[in-house]
Amino acid sequence: MIRENLQRLLDELPPHVRLVAVSKTKPAEVVKEAYDAGHRDFGENKVQEMVAKREQLPGDIRWHMIGHLQTNKVKYIAPFVHLIHSVDSLKLLRTIDKEGRKHGRVIDVLFEIHIAKEPSKFGFAWDDLRQLMEAGEWQRLDHVRICGVMGMATFTDDTSLVREEFRTLAQYFRSLKEDFFPDKDHFREISMGMSGDYRIAIEEGATIVRIGTLIFGERDYL
Ligand SMILES: *Cc1c(COP(=O)(O)O)cnc(C)c1O
Repeated sequence: MIRENLQRLLDELPPHVRLVAVSKTKPAEVVKEAYDAGHRDFGENKVQEMVAKREQLPGDIRWHMIGHLQTNKVKYIAPFVHLIHSVDSLKLLRTIDKEGRKHGRVIDVLFEIHIAKEPSKFGFAWDDLRQLMEAGEWQRLDHVRICGVMGMATFTDDTSLVREEFRTLAQYFRSLKEDFFPDKDHFREISMGMSGDYRIAIEEGATIVRIGTLIFGERDYL
């Protein structure tokens, strides 16, 4: 089924939208099925789980960190992580830079921005992110490369609210692009959309969708 689920999604996605298959809670054998179907981009939300699966799976997988990341755990994924979607503080950005330097890498990251109505979701408040950008320290962190933004919409059936939140995230992206990255090709990613709302996200400009349930089925736990 995994192969069919992947193919159905890939057939539907426009060519400029990348699919991150969210494999959190699923064992390595299940991830391997998607790998054998040709997929290479996988998303995890826990450091230990990502590290454990990486050890059991082929080395050409591109691992995406999509969950909240504690600074003291960055060191475990710094040697290999492909893209960190969930940078939500300057402290975390500095730590990723420091670990990138240690490993001789420039680590690609996205800024997670809080767009949902729920207070519990992580991410920068837009005003705080603007301040961070204007302060300018980020420009001296040369072992991180800021590639765009990530956000999660409110978990709701109200599709107009979800659309509004994704639209807001796309506006934030354009604002950052214009003011801080006008000539930077790498600043081009908008990571938004999950199993329940990826179609809306694509309509509102997503370049990366993060999909778990529609590929791997329901999870037993979070
Ligand atoms: C779990 C998760 C997803 C995927 O959710 P599904 O509804 O299973 O597609 C996407 N993004 C983040 C940040 C997640 O934690």
